Amino acid sequence: MIHIPQASPSLRIARWRSEIDAAVKAAIGGDRYILGAAVAAFEAAFAQYLGVAHCVGVGSGTDAIALALRGLGIGPGDEVITTALTAAGTAQAILQCGAQPRFVDIDPRTRCLDPQAAEEAVTSRSAAILVVHLFGEPADMPRLSVIAKRHKLALIEDCAHAHGATIGGRKVGTFGDAGAFSFYPTKNLGAVGDAGAVVCAQPALAERLRRLRSYGLDEHGVCQSAAGNSRLDEIQAALLLVLLRHLDDGNDERRQLAADYRRLLAPTGVGLPPQAPGAVYHQFAITHASRDTLRRTLLEQEGVVTSVHYYPPLHRHPAFADAAPAELLHTDSLAANLLSLPIQPEVAGPHLGHIVTAVERSLARCRAS
Ligand SMILES: *Cc1c(COP(=O)(O)O)cnc(C)c1O
Repeated sequence: MIHIPQASPSLRIARWRSEIDAAVKAAIGGDRYILGAAVAAFEAAFAQYLGVAHCVGVGSGTDAIALALRGLGIGPGDEVITTALTAAGTAQAILQCGAQPRFVDIDPRTRCLDPQAAEEAVTSRSAAILVVHLFGEPADMPRLSVIAKRHKLALIEDCAHAHGATIGGRKVGTFGDAGAFSFYPTKNLGAVGDAGAVVCAQPALAERLRRLRSYGLDEHGVCQSAAGNSRLDEIQAALLLVLLRHLDDGNDERRQLAADYRRLLAPTGVGLPPQAPGAVYHQFAITHASRDTLRRTLLEQEGVVTSVHYYPPLHRHPAFADAAPAELLHTDSLAANLLSLPIQPEVAGPHLGHIVTAVERSLARCRAS
C-alpha cells in the first residue's frame, strides 16, 4: 500500500538541496555562529518581503509571541484575548510572559477570532488581542484593528500558519503592533530545527526585542531588564534565506492544490475551508461529522496520513482551564470535526488524485459501517 505522509519537511529540503548546502556551508565557514551575517541578512530579507521596517530573529514561534507581548509591556495582571482553536504555543506564550489568556469564540466563517466576541470580552484587565491566522486563512484584521484602537489594546498577530498570506495585497504580520512567526519545520517557511521571528514597525519595540532575545543587554553591554536567551542561529537563518526565495512559489502551489481539492471534493459533501484570495493554506482542513472514523479509515485502508488541528481545543486543557469563562460553541463544534489533509506541495502535488479517491472510498466505508 502507498504511504502518503501528512507533511514531509525533508522532501522540501531535498528539493532545494544544492542551494541549501551552499548556504549552510558558507554559514559554517564564517567565524560568528551567533547573531552573525546570516541572521542579519535573513532579518533584512524577511522584513522586506513582508513590507515592514523591522524583523528580529528568535529561537521559536512561541518565544516570538512571548517576546512580542513582553516588548509591548504586557505581563503579570494583564489579560490577553485570544482563540482556543490554535497550537498550544499561542497560549503558552501568554503564560510565559506572566499574563493570562482569555479565550473567546471563533467566527466559523474564518475559523479565526470573532472580532465581536473579542470586543465583548474586553475588561479593565485586558491588555492585548492575540489573533491567529489559522491554517493560513487571514483573520479579520481591519475590524480587529479598529477594536484594538478603540479599547487601547495591543494587537499581536500569530502568523505561524501564514507566511505570505495577504489581505487586500498587504501581508499579515504588518497589521498589528507586532507579527510573530514560527519557522517550525512543517510551516510554510520552515527551518531544520526551532526558529522564529518578530516583525514590527516601531524602532523602539525592535530595540527592546533585540535586548529581550539576548540577556537583556543594550548596545553598551548593560542589562536593561530581566531576559533570557532566544536567538535565531546562523545555520537556520542561512537555510531560511534560501527557502524564503521559494516561499511565494510554494504558496502558489498550495493555493492551486487547494483549488483542486475544492473542485474534486465538492461532490463528496465534506465541509470545505473558507475561501479567501490571500490565504496560503498551511493546512487544508476539511470537516466531517465522523472525523475520527474517516481519519482511521484513510490511514489503515488507504495509507493516507492526516492530522487533527486542534483537539481538544485549548480551553479544555488543564493548563488553561480558567481561561474561558463563557462557552465556546463554534470552537467546540468545529474542533470536533476538523481533519487536515496533506497539502505541502512536495507531498500532495504528486498524489492529489489518490488522496481524493481515498477520501471518496473512505466516506463510502464510513457510510456502510
Ligand atoms: C507552530 C505554532 C506555534 C509555535 O511555534 P513554535 O516554533 O513551535 O514554538 C504557535 N502558534 C501556532 C498557530 C503554531 O502553529
